[in-house]
Amino acid sequence: MVEGQLRARGIRDRRVLEAMATVPRHEFVPIDQAAAAYEDRALPIGEWETISQPFIVALMTEAAAVNPGDRVLEIGTGLGYQSAVLAALDARVYTVERNASLAEEARRKLARLGYGSVEVITGDGTEGYAVAAPYEAILVTAGSPRVPQALIDQLAGGGRLVIPIGGREMQQLHLFVRRGEDFSDKTLEAVQFVPLVGKQGWPQARWPRFFG
Ligand code: SAH
Repeated sequence: MVEGQLRARGIRDRRVLEAMATVPRHEFVPIDQAAAAYEDRALPIGEWETISQPFIVALMTEAAAVNPGDRVLEIGTGLGYQSAVLAALDARVYTVERNASLAEEARRKLARLGYGSVEVITGDGTEGYAVAAPYEAILVTAGSPRVPQALIDQLAGGGRLVIPIGGREMQQLHLFVRRGEDFSDKTLEAVQFVPLVGKQGWPQARWPRFFG
């Protein structure tokens, strides 16, 4: 996975490559998906949600330029894979998940696998998590129609915000970097995330999605 999918496609940050080599991705998918855990695609994790494709996790993590000790906020925990990668980079990780049963399962998994320092918060991540703000990096792992204001407010000076913005089905991955009250904006990649559902995101999904 690291050589064939990540390095081959231009992920260069050695710490990111090492972190992704150490985190056991098969532990973060349902048992019936474990054989496919290292394939080059997203996988269903139950509750109509997905674990992101390895390359996209690497791209977002590299863009977030995480240093040891950084406070990092993730929105959309799923089963906790991206959180574990951030923890492997020695960040202080706060991750918000709106689905209570996924949050609980992620909490248990992360603790069992030695990533117990990750704080999993059940709630609407479009409001961020003000308690531990400001953050040196914020990663949003669900597709948003806009940048939620709370996330802008909770980003530290020099902080990086990585977020997919666009429609319910397709988005562009953006990297915003805070410079005082200004932001630089770089578009990284076309992506397909499940919708960010919440106050500053999309309204509740009307019917389940299917996986091809
Ligand atoms: N980061 C995960 C993948 C997450 S999939 C990984 O590493 O595998 C997107 C997740 O975002 C889903 O679990 C979904 O429930 C969650 N989500 C959607 N809207 C949300 C919101 N407003 N706040 C928090 N989580 C949200």
